[in-house]
Amino acid sequence: MQAARIRIANGRILDPSQELDERGDVVIENDRIVGVHWASGHAPASSPAERVVDAESLVVAPGFVDLHCHLREPGLEYKETIATGTRAAAAGGFTTVCCMPNTEPTLDTASDIEWIHAVAHRDAVVRVYPIGAITKGRLGIELAELADMGRAGAVAFSDDGNPVRSGKLLRNALSYARITGRPVVDHCEDHDLVDGGVMHEGSVSSRLGLRGAPAESEEAAIARDLALAQAVGGRLHLAHVSTAHSIELVRDAKARGTRVTAEVTPHHLVLTHAWVAGFEEGVTRYDTNCRVNPPLRTEEDRVALIRGVADGTIDAIATDHAPHDVVDKNCEFDRAAPGISGLETAFGLLMRLVAPTNGDPALPLATIVRALTMGASRAFNLDLGTLRVGALADLVLLDPDAHWTVDVQRFHSKGKNSPLDGQDLRGIVRLTMVGGKIVHEVPR
Ligand SMILES: [Zn+2]
Repeated sequence: MQAARIRIANGRILDPSQELDERGDVVIENDRIVGVHWASGHAPASSPAERVVDAESLVVAPGFVDLHCHLREPGLEYKETIATGTRAAAAGGFTTVCCMPNTEPTLDTASDIEWIHAVAHRDAVVRVYPIGAITKGRLGIELAELADMGRAGAVAFSDDGNPVRSGKLLRNALSYARITGRPVVDHCEDHDLVDGGVMHEGSVSSRLGLRGAPAESEEAAIARDLALAQAVGGRLHLAHVSTAHSIELVRDAKARGTRVTAEVTPHHLVLTHAWVAGFEEGVTRYDTNCRVNPPLRTEEDRVALIRGVADGTIDAIATDHAPHDVVDKNCEFDRAAPGISGLETAFGLLMRLVAPTNGDPALPLATIVRALTMGASRAFNLDLGTLRVGALADLVLLDPDAHWTVDVQRFHSKGKNSPLDGQDLRGIVRLTMVGGKIVHEVPR
């Protein structure tokens, strides 16, 4: 049996919610944090009844909160389940995941939301917060029962995978979101402008002869929806923002006082459309594991996203974990299902931004942790992402300097679809704790 009292001893405590970056101890009793003691202060002597976890040379941070993942249950259990997806989350340092409603059937009623809570209670190892659909069946025709779903515990509303094509419907959804206090999560994409594009429209798509989706297919949708949010006043959250001009639109809207928050994915922060073709001399890959929606963009876009995280224009880093079966990816590029299985590589990938080797703008570890914890938590109004005394004991121990090689066959996720297979990453999640319970541990 696990000791009721645990001391995480002598780690670098990094908690942006308290602007804390100090060496010390975190003490947990049952499911709560009961003490945070700095080495410089007077830590009470350890009592014999507690388990001590040595965090020397490790970072102690709040557990990561993922605002955007696909757990595929109900209906698509061959791609992922709540059991496997939450184990992948724990391995990636995520103590909370918000799951998208594009399941079969769509999560668009209060009883669907209750069902997710019941299955999560039985199968999940991290907290699972369902997101309800904006429109019935995600068809973009009729508004779903947002208030009922909100009462049943939906943390946000989204038709993710599809944009809400009708501006009028989205405006109505934002009005309801004002009543429920829950954000509308916007998959910003103008399908007419995408026009069957399967990667970013640019130099690489021309070279590969693949149909491209232009940057403005995202930017035009964001501009419309920011105008609606400004008019109605409901909370708008922009999913997976991916272009330089999108960042400018969000920055301007925030400066005008629009209630908007935004997220980016680790893959858009680190990879570009060049990954689709690959980097081997004389070999063109057409890597279907790089097919993702929105598509991997240009280097200029990527640098703008990094700057957006650095200056707070972007509130959160969210994985958009999208596991697929091998048959969904083992096909021609334009027939492949879009998405990357991203929960287990998120931290290692983001660590490439902390000490870049290629002259990129660097992101301090504290900024990345902020976007994965406090920033994400605030965007959805969740009371999470902090190591404050009295808070739920959701935390991670990070080993930022340890290296590992990605092997998708060792993923906890059923989705082995990652372009990072075989890559060397720096940064290992050593321990994940949810409500005082250790749900993932990698010995040193
Ligand atoms: Zn989406």
